Amino acid sequence: MSERIDVLIIGAGPAGVAAGIGAKREGAEHVVVIERDWDLGGILQQCIHPGFGLRTFKEELTGPEYMHRFIQQAHEAGVEFRTNTMVFQIDRENNTVWTMNKERGIEALNPGAIVLTMGCRERPLGAIRIPGTRPAGIYTAGTAQRFVNMEGYMPGKRAVILGSGDIGLIMARRMIWEGATVEGVYEVMSWPGGLRRNIAQCLDDYGIPFHLKTTVTRVHGQDRLEGVTVAQVDDHMTPIKGTERFVECDTLLLAIGLIPENELSRMAGIDIHPVTGGPVVNDLLQTTNPAVFAAGNVVIVYDLVDNVSDEGLIAGANAAKFSAGKIPADIKRIPVKGGENVRLYSPQYVTGQTDATIFMRVTHPVEQACRVFAVSDNGTELYSQRLRYARPGEMNEVRLKTAKLAEAGEVSAITVDIQPV
Ligand SMILES: Cc1cc2nc3c(=O)[nH]c(=O)nc-3n(C[C@H](O)[C@H](O)[C@H](O)COP(=O)(O)OP(=O)(O)OC[C@H]3O[C@@H](n4cnc5c(N)ncnc54)[C@H](O)[C@@H]3O)c2cc1C
Repeated sequence: MSERIDVLIIGAGPAGVAAGIGAKREGAEHVVVIERDWDLGGILQQCIHPGFGLRTFKEELTGPEYMHRFIQQAHEAGVEFRTNTMVFQIDRENNTVWTMNKERGIEALNPGAIVLTMGCRERPLGAIRIPGTRPAGIYTAGTAQRFVNMEGYMPGKRAVILGSGDIGLIMARRMIWEGATVEGVYEVMSWPGGLRRNIAQCLDDYGIPFHLKTTVTRVHGQDRLEGVTVAQVDDHMTPIKGTERFVECDTLLLAIGLIPENELSRMAGIDIHPVTGGPVVNDLLQTTNPAVFAAGNVVIVYDLVDNVSDEGLIAGANAAKFSAGKIPADIKRIPVKGGENVRLYSPQYVTGQTDATIFMRVTHPVEQACRVFAVSDNGTELYSQRLRYARPGEMNEVRLKTAKLAEAGEVSAITVDIQPV
């Protein structure tokens, strides 16, 4: 109980490792990252495909290579990592963090500030209630990725992928590389869930059929999966009678969305945003509990890891400032609102203390020239950028400058949106 920790970070994925570096750079003395896994790197340990770090390092790295660079920096900076250690509780009254480890036992830690970087988990089959049996052969795409890339097991020989999130697209290609057949990727929406570059590189390049507005309506098989029924859906996502067909397969991989991992955040009494599923944060990445900061996929599901690392650095640095008493309790909170075509965005408040990036996803694709913008409630345009298109699978950014906000005068709300021009 006597151990003094300035900043305690929960989770050693890209966000947590960067938060450790950010906290050290800001001058925090004792920075500890708690990780339940035996190794560092979070989900990137299993992402052995290239495509990481194009922005940060101007190179195309694999997930482990990208993480290695950050982990090395964190070690050099003096960040302490405690692996094989699980945080199982945060007390809301005094922010005590309870950890569990085989050697150290149960410990209660009272840090000066906490950073939540627990990432997210995949939506399972139960989340979409498909009728039929529950045979072996149904996995989330991330579980299958771990089997193939880390444990050396193939989930099956003939796969169907439900959902077109990036993990599903990447796993479609991975299954082909490992000698399996992929019967098709089925997406209930009329647009892809993942990045366009992944549609091109993982499906088109391998001739994998991609069916929009189509879903799996039944699972078949007793012990092992024998096939699925797929059907087209109407504009209300209801299966259209007469379009059903049987697709033979022994494996169904689910890429139907990710949910920020926030059981601990709820325990800590932090407000959770109903749409993002992550903590409500300001642009310092401070949650509604002032001593608790959050970054990465625990806040909002990002498409690029570079943004996750950037946010980790910011959250870690601000946690260190808080721990040193450098963030006032009465900090300004200007609410950010999403416009007509914004499904989700983060942060939800800006303080005016720092330049801020607001990340957002559109509700509907805009397949023409459009504009991403921010406007204050007193009518001042704070940001505007022309785009060639905007798609739900790809995040967009509004970059707010403190100087611009100050020039706008009295601002009590900011709206962000993307509209055709
Ligand atoms: C399959 C896949 C492919 C991707 N491909 C790309 C790509 O090509 N390019 C790209 O830029 N991005 C890609 N991404 C996105 C990128 O990997 C994520 O945005 C990033 O990993 C999120 O980092 P994070 O630190 O928030 O979460 P995570 O990486 O999930 O890390 C969270 C960590 O917290 C730990 N943890 C959780 N709860 C606790 C607890 N209670 N106690 C202790 N530890 C805990 C977990 O064990 C984990 O290590 C991909 C993501 C996935 C899933």
